[in-house]
Amino acid sequence: MITLTLWGTRGSIPVSGPEFQRYGGATTCVELSFEDAEEDTPKRVIVDCGTGLTELGKNWSGRSYEALFLQTHMHWDHIQGFPFFGPFFHPAGRYSFWATPRSGATMRDVISRQMTQPTFPVGLDIMPSQLMFKDIPQQGEAQLGELTIRWCELCHSPGNTAYRLDYRGRSIVLSGDVEVQRGSRKELVQLAQGADLLVMDSQYFPEDYKNRVGFGHSTPLDAVAVAKEAGVLHLMLTHHDPTHTDEKLDQKLVIAQKAANGEVAVENARDQLQMSFSTKSFSSASLSSRLSLQI
Ligand SMILES: [Zn+2]
Ligand SMILES: [Zn+2]
Repeated sequence: MITLTLWGTRGSIPVSGPEFQRYGGATTCVELSFEDAEEDTPKRVIVDCGTGLTELGKNWSGRSYEALFLQTHMHWDHIQGFPFFGPFFHPAGRYSFWATPRSGATMRDVISRQMTQPTFPVGLDIMPSQLMFKDIPQQGEAQLGELTIRWCELCHSPGNTAYRLDYRGRSIVLSGDVEVQRGSRKELVQLAQGADLLVMDSQYFPEDYKNRVGFGHSTPLDAVAVAKEAGVLHLMLTHHDPTHTDEKLDQKLVIAQKAANGEVAVENARDQLQMSFSTKSFSSASLSSRLSLQI
């Protein structure tokens, strides 16, 4: 069984207010858990450290203090939750971080610089848990027990890593930030080939994209085209623009669903949406309704 939880689905900056209530306003963070995995398989993989990571920290109860973090890139909206993630302050914690160095900086460099005066009061060394940083090349493949991780570089200045995770016949692909109209569409289609789920950057309305060429993001039509070409079963639109209210995101979903024409199941990502994948069935429910069922 794989359980995927979206803790942050917003791009650029976090937002709050009644007009964002349904989809939420935390920036990028996705958690995947492999609870029934064999010993050498990571029990938990976390992709990106946006402000959604702090929400995961608040809900950490019941989890072991171990995780593998896969970082797409180091833009603020993907690292801002790092210093505020409670489990890093647990002395028994053991966390690995994989990231591609860019512009001459490793993930450790970037996080250390983020957590320094005058932008932050305390340094990375204040965290008592074990933090292990690993620099990975722009593309590659790794086998960790039953989990296969593949990754490649996509078009987003100064670069972005997309990840594919394969586990017991299920495949989940996370694009990170990507502007497919300017490059790397072929690479993403290849990585996402036949996946059960593609979670993809769809920040702009198609008509707004022409004024944002070079900003590094895609549209819902781009995401549907990639998903169709890759033969993906389920597409999740994410990295929502901070100006897009719940109402606007509903409109974006309609555009995508029309383009998908039933060939791909399309959904908007929203904070705390949880999906479970088993080898026999596929289900989707919001975390709040799942929690209320358990009470
Ligand atoms: Zn971003
Ligand atoms: Zn970015």
